[in-house]
Amino acid sequence: MERQNPDYRLVDSLSGPLITQGGKLYRCGVCRICGCTDANPCRDELVDLTCCWIDADHTLCDNLQCIAAVPLGELELMIAAEEAN
Ligand SMILES: [Zn+2]
Ligand SMILES: [Zn+2]
Repeated sequence: MERQNPDYRLVDSLSGPLITQGGKLYRCGVCRICGCTDANPCRDELVDLTCCWIDADHTLCDNLQCIAAVPLGELELMIAAEEAN
């Protein structure tokens, strides 16, 4: 089977470069938890606002459900990277 997965190609053309953080691979411009993007941000029902990025590399949005799903150690890495910029 030589066919490429069309869904993968679609994601690839819409989003940014890959980065590693804490030994894991993430894509800039796509939330690692919910998969939202700049063009298609998710909505935090609690505060009724569309999300923003909380890290400099744009791999996690500030939706509370997303933040809650990320281990504390990874959040600390992100904040440290943000402050270094
Ligand atoms: Zn998110
Ligand atoms: Zn989001």
